[in-house]
Amino acid sequence: MDENRLSKIRIVLVGTTHPGNIGATARAMKTMGLSRLVLVQPRRFPDPEAVARASGADDILEQVMICDSLSEALSGCGVIVATTARRRSLEWPVVEPRQMASKLISAAAANQCALVFGREQSGLTNKELTHCQSAVMIPTNPEYRSLNLAAAVQIMTYELNLAARNAERSAEQTAERATAAEMERFYQHLEEAMIESGFYNPEKPKKLIPRMHRLFNRAGLDHTEVQMLRGFFTAIQKTARRKD
Ligand code: SAH
Repeated sequence: MDENRLSKIRIVLVGTTHPGNIGATARAMKTMGLSRLVLVQPRRFPDPEAVARASGADDILEQVMICDSLSEALSGCGVIVATTARRRSLEWPVVEPRQMASKLISAAAANQCALVFGREQSGLTNKELTHCQSAVMIPTNPEYRSLNLAAAVQIMTYELNLAARNAERSAEQTAERATAAEMERFYQHLEEAMIESGFYNPEKPKKLIPRMHRLFNRAGLDHTEVQMLRGFFTAIQKTARRKD
């Protein structure tokens, strides 16, 4: 999990009425590896109900930042996304959580980011939306769209966690790929081993060589895997030479 990027994404709750939702939000965040919670004019906070619902994610509540205005909560943020339970007559692009998450995780490499949640009863005002560059909506039953606030936070943070892990995995996968020159030597070695072992007759080439290329190109070998297979080819060559 890329804690580093996740720690650059703050969860902003605007005008929360129920302290239980603040506690449940802290818990949702902690399970998904996020840590920065910002509250804008919470109705009741601090409150024992928040601590009870945080179920051990108290560290997030202790480090919470409380602000008087949304602008203050967003200070330093380069990328700001609003969450909304309903389509509004606005020009903001509305995306789904998965798209939002990959966008925020890439942006978090270089920017502080914010994901903004609205009030339990009325969501965000249109004025508050003007602070945000885009909006995200969790697809739901069209006749019953509104999730509990902390449940919405859980879904969004799950998507952020998933996107962070995907980003990390693809960075790992591209890091050590064998180079073109290395692959050329690999195919040369493979061909020699196939010939020496009697498996391949260059007089009757058929389609073996291009098929082998297709197979290993599809596998996307990394440096270590190339070394391993070449070790195997050498062993095959030694065995074949002993028999000659
Ligand atoms: N009646 C309000 C509902 C607010 S629900 C309204 O129509 O806006 C409280 C908050 O939870 C919302 O402001 C939003 O931040 C989040 N939320 C609830 N359902 C959501 C959904 N389907 N997609 C995205 N966010 C949602």
